[in-house]
Amino acid sequence: MVRLRFAPSPTGYLHVGGARTALFNFLYARKMNGKFILRIEDTDLERSEKEYEKGLINALKWLGLDWDEGPDVGGEYGPYRQSERLDIYHKYAQKLLDEGKAYEVYAYPEEIEQLREKLLSEGKPPHYTREMLEAFATPERIKEYKNKGLKPAIYFSMPRKEYVLNDIVKGEVVFKEGTVGDFAIIRSNGVPIYNFACVIDDYLMKITHVLRGDDHLSNTVKQIALYEAFGWETPNFGHVSMILGPDAKKLSKRHGATSVEEFRDRGYLPQAVVNFLALLGWSHPDGKEIMSLNELINAFSLERLGKNPAIFDPKKLKWMN
Ligand code: GLU
Repeated sequence: MVRLRFAPSPTGYLHVGGARTALFNFLYARKMNGKFILRIEDTDLERSEKEYEKGLINALKWLGLDWDEGPDVGGEYGPYRQSERLDIYHKYAQKLLDEGKAYEVYAYPEEIEQLREKLLSEGKPPHYTREMLEAFATPERIKEYKNKGLKPAIYFSMPRKEYVLNDIVKGEVVFKEGTVGDFAIIRSNGVPIYNFACVIDDYLMKITHVLRGDDHLSNTVKQIALYEAFGWETPNFGHVSMILGPDAKKLSKRHGATSVEEFRDRGYLPQAVVNFLALLGWSHPDGKEIMSLNELINAFSLERLGKNPAIFDPKKLKWMN
């Protein structure tokens, strides 16, 4: 059975790109009689806000994208929240530490930044190695951390090799050896980093397909390496092209209303918005342009996800109102 998820970070409103990602995952889950899961990725405490989480949930409900699992809240499914699963991430980080696939780093953020600048000034890519980062762990530093009640960060030792991804949308994507260096998986404040928490959850939630924007490709190589380190099978990845404004520039506030909340407040019907979103990077085999959610489910297929950037044209939304 296929299992898909939408995993927003509650750091803003549900914008067109996120809503489209949610919709494609939802449509494929429904088309295949699989499951669709909502997971709130709220480990970035400084940027996550409850108000945004509420907004995301309301916007998804308004669009009619309901999910099939989650903790029981008043008789309906709530979302999974990463902030409620921290122990799980720590347990898996410990496993990598025990196996020597991850290591502790006793460096302050400004020292990491200095190291990055030094590498760049030497004309090298800013890729950290275990040797560079473990050099911070002098006996004095370890003592200092203890006295201050600080914990070391945990970094993943990224294997230096080529990775090849067979992407549902993009086809073969090759990540040459040395594309990325070692990276943090747990910060010194105990908070897991996105790539790590995402892999643990996608594995534990038995996600079979991950459809998301191609701005995540550089994360995907890190995630594949983590799957391999744990000896887990990777899900199928599909990276959809980004959405551009009518001026062919990256979609942003300059292009007017770009969040689901704004569309709703302007009086568009959810059905029109869903239809509009579906056509941003997917097309009906017969070129049909106006479809109900059920028609979209029936017609949906991964093969028709487009390789080229989708153009956001608010005029198309208007005539559906
Ligand atoms: N929380 C990530 C985001 O909002 C999720 C990306 C993903 O789907 O893995 O960008």
